[in-house]
Amino acid sequence: MIVLEGVQKHFGVNHVLKDIDLTVAAGEKVVVIGPSGSGKSTLIRSMNLLETPSGGKIIVDGVDLTSPDAEVEKVRESVAMVFQQFNLYPHKTVLENLTLAPILIKKVPKAEAEETGLAFLERVGLKDKANAYPAQLSGGQQQRVAIARALSMKPRVMLFDEPTSALDPEMIQEVLDVMVDLAKEGITMVVVTHEMGFARQVADRVIFMDGGRIIEEGTPEHFFVNPESDRTKLFLSKIL
Ligand code: ADP
Ligand code: MG
Repeated sequence: MIVLEGVQKHFGVNHVLKDIDLTVAAGEKVVVIGPSGSGKSTLIRSMNLLETPSGGKIIVDGVDLTSPDAEVEKVRESVAMVFQQFNLYPHKTVLENLTLAPILIKKVPKAEAEETGLAFLERVGLKDKANAYPAQLSGGQQQRVAIARALSMKPRVMLFDEPTSALDPEMIQEVLDVMVDLAKEGITMVVVTHEMGFARQVADRVIFMDGGRIIEEGTPEHFFVNPESDRTKLFLSKIL
């Protein structure tokens, strides 16, 4: 589903991704961990063209994102992203947040988009908030709406960039629960998070990044039981 070959990213003189090779199979759940500034966000943002790599190749769902004629909108239809800051449209209701893109981009009829939107809201436990505005919801509820909104495009890949790190502690679990539930389906997920409980529950593979490189990868158990690199051990000693 996702193939990265020799991916490089420079921001000016800052070499942020260094020769990244990574393959994610359809349906696979990958968790990315690593210290701040190691390139995790840049890595997953390059999987839906929020960043353009400076070198190498990225192929997602058969589409070469690094080709000059890659269609950004098509890519984002099949690769949805959930951010740390929920980025909901503040002047739209919860349901409108879900129906906007399907109506505008996918040309889904309004009634159908609303029906689908309500079904996704029900899945994240927020059907009763359809007509509320984002500011009337808690952070955890807003993030659940953001997840439902991403799902409303029926993507094949879901990218999550530290989806719980802006939340008050008591709201983290409700968002993780929604993600665990989602992981039971066939959808491909790449999740940047330091929630190792979540990793243990859903990850097929954990990737540790440092300094723009993939330093180590393995199952969650590998990271809990016998991480190899000293850098990995040091990092884990801080988060576990
Ligand atoms: P992480 O998500 O692991 O914290 P990032 O991918 O956000 O790391 O950042 C990796 C490096 O790239 C950092 O040094 C950061 O300052 C730099 N960086 C990220 N985005 C930009 C940008 N838009 N412009 C310039 N530098 C950036
Ligand atoms: Mg980041």
